[in-house]
Amino acid sequence: MFDGEAVSGPMTVVLEDERIHAVGPRGSLQVPAGARVLDYSGKTIIPGLIAAHSHVGNVSGVETGRRFYTRENITRQLARYLDYGVTTVNSLGLNPPLFYTLRRELNGHAAGTDLFGAGPGIGAPLGTPPAGRMGLEDDQVARPETAEVARALVRDMAGHGVDMVKLWVDSLGGTLPTLSPEIYRAAIDEAHRQGLRVFAHIHDLDDAKALVEAGADVLGHGVRDQPVDDASVQAMKARGVWYIATINLDEANYLYAEHPSWMDEPFFRAAVDPALQRRFDDSEWRRETLAGPGAENARKAVRLNLENLRTLHQAGVRIGFGTDSGAMPQRIPGFAEHRELELMTQAGLTPAQALRAATRDSAELLGLKDRGAVAPGMLADLVVLDADPTQDIRNTRGIHAVWRRGVQVPRLAEPLPGRIRSRDSSRR
Ligand SMILES: [Zn+2]
Repeated sequence: MFDGEAVSGPMTVVLEDERIHAVGPRGSLQVPAGARVLDYSGKTIIPGLIAAHSHVGNVSGVETGRRFYTRENITRQLARYLDYGVTTVNSLGLNPPLFYTLRRELNGHAAGTDLFGAGPGIGAPLGTPPAGRMGLEDDQVARPETAEVARALVRDMAGHGVDMVKLWVDSLGGTLPTLSPEIYRAAIDEAHRQGLRVFAHIHDLDDAKALVEAGADVLGHGVRDQPVDDASVQAMKARGVWYIATINLDEANYLYAEHPSWMDEPFFRAAVDPALQRRFDDSEWRRETLAGPGAENARKAVRLNLENLRTLHQAGVRIGFGTDSGAMPQRIPGFAEHRELELMTQAGLTPAQALRAATRDSAELLGLKDRGAVAPGMLADLVVLDADPTQDIRNTRGIHAVWRRGVQVPRLAEPLPGRIRSRDSSRR
């Protein structure tokens, strides 16, 4: 059990259409006509995971670019998330106009995850997110040069039905220009006028502080250049700012080159595209990756990220859940989420606290009142686990079944490209 919201042991969940009608000990519940009863004796049921910082349509294989933002690719990526128990995905920026159509069409069906998102988001002219390096085109990021243009862009996004506004404020180690405070303050103010929360991409503490002071609602990445100081902790608490650490983001820059033994297990391999698997299998790539300066920088970033998450969580700052999965090839949708849960426990959260961040709290972070708990009235987005994750967070990887809006999701029968089937696929 975690916070009374996971169901384990001889417990029963009664479903009525797409929602949970009742939860309780077997035999104690009234079952309305037409309702369905789930009885997973000996299993543990947790709410579907909510990925509050991901991206769709950016990646295919080992490549990144606008050309992958297609209905087919995104549908395939969302199916993979669902197979890993991620029932809600928030695409936090880099979304061209097709996003608006897909968000309307895809949401509310049992066949895939719900897709929410920020539309394009607001970046710096000639700055972050770097267009050349990421293969971005102009319709994926708005880059205002004045405060008035920033306001107009936010109003346009609001009119198209974005769920939040994304801002990038990051000089990438002093190598790129950043949005000026005048511009991001205007964007934040206009977003709030439109009733939208602002999620900020940051890396450095100084940018995080400035954005908190300017009214940003969510820091979408961990602070990774230095330890957070008491003033910034208190400012985040006082303003109710949410914090999403995305620890796996930096770890993914060296972890797969180290080739831990679980990379040979079906749970990992099923998430990995064949072209990416070939890269992971290439001993030369592994050697060069670990020898380069990027690996050491990434290790340092992970250490600081873990330390800062520990500090902020202990201080009572609200913690959301996200990995930046889907932004780059090595940020692997589905797997990244389960790895992030484990990393959060390395930062001192209990498994129950990490799971709560990934379910109930991220629902609140996204303003979604209909999900995030195994409780009456909630959407029946459920993950049935073979073993109790509050005992060992890695037990989230033993997925017995996924339910989505009251319908059991068929585990991917058609292999995704590169999917390696385990001998006993039900053990996935
Ligand atoms: Zn991102």
